[in-house]
Amino acid sequence: MNENQQILKEIFLKNKVKGNYKFDYNLSKYSWFGIGGNAEIFYIPSSLEELQLVLSEKEENIDVTVIGLGSNIIIRDGGIPGLVVRLGNGFNNISHNKNTVFAGAAVQDKVLSKYCLKNSIIGFEFYYGIPGTVGGAACMNAGCFGSETKDFFIKAKCLSSQGEHVELNYSEELFSYRKNNFLNKHIICEVQFNKEIGDPLTINKRIVEINDQRKETQPQKVMTAGSTFKNPFDRSEFKAWQLIDKAGLREYELNGISFSEKHANFIVNRQKDSANLIEDFGENIKKEVKNRLGIELEWEIKILGNR
Ligand SMILES: Cc1cc2nc3c(=O)[nH]c(=O)nc-3n(C[C@H](O)[C@H](O)[C@H](O)COP(=O)(O)OP(=O)(O)OC[C@H]3O[C@@H](n4cnc5c(N)ncnc54)[C@H](O)[C@@H]3O)c2cc1C
Repeated sequence: MNENQQILKEIFLKNKVKGNYKFDYNLSKYSWFGIGGNAEIFYIPSSLEELQLVLSEKEENIDVTVIGLGSNIIIRDGGIPGLVVRLGNGFNNISHNKNTVFAGAAVQDKVLSKYCLKNSIIGFEFYYGIPGTVGGAACMNAGCFGSETKDFFIKAKCLSSQGEHVELNYSEELFSYRKNNFLNKHIICEVQFNKEIGDPLTINKRIVEINDQRKETQPQKVMTAGSTFKNPFDRSEFKAWQLIDKAGLREYELNGISFSEKHANFIVNRQKDSANLIEDFGENIKKEVKNRLGIELEWEIKILGNR
């Protein structure tokens, strides 16, 4: 056990934490690609209070990385140094009052969407098709079918890497396309959304439409992390998948990694040797699109850890 692990072990034991923790823990099952390196220290806190305590006692130089459901990440083979936090049951609350929906960061987007349907709350239909958590959605400004997380976002309750409580309110500068500019520096613990009552039949119809469209246009039951590259709206009239197609790279394959037949911006991984190979595949695509079409693609997938 190294020094960082020893420090965290002492904090966990001293505070008799109820959460789960492991050292040099392989994260393959926490990435939708089904492969990835180890967390130096892996921790699923049992509650906000417990997480706050652990963070406040940890040395500042021990990095903190949060993962959600792993539907938009590559975890490199060299693993993630420091403390890797995955929020679990202590962060699964959902409720609403007159004007606001409250959702813990570990709540799955689909679960939130169903909750809203049950309570005739309109606008959250798009979350039905996004396979991540509320924390991941706020961090990525996840969206589809014309809606984005920022459209309903009021504020996020977060912790800093040293356990300080931080509240981030909606502002124009907070979010941009598939990105927020501040939340990714914090651990998002709960998000509050604007609530609007709608007709449950309309909400349900929209969910069915979104679900059907997804089944038609996206691969099912494969190891993918959704859109690989952002659409370069500021640099091209074409979407990322169209650029990949135009560059003649739709059929490109490397070591059991290729694009989905249904969607030329979704990487499908069919190998269990290395997560770095998935990054290499994406980097080759970036290079070739730049060479052939002169447009620089930008990763939407977050790449975590060391090579
Ligand atoms: C089949 C498929 C379809 C998809 N379709 C869409 C789509 O239509 N639209 C879309 O926007 N995305 C889509 N995605 C991508 C992905 O589902 C979203 O980006 C989702 O919001 C990621 O959430 P997650 O919990 O899986 O986060 P992860 O993938 O685990 O993490 C993503 C990023 O969020 C950070 N993060 C996660 N939780 C927290 C937290 N609590 N606090 C701070 N940071 C956090 C991580 O550090 C990482 O940087 C799709 C993915 C797949 C596999």
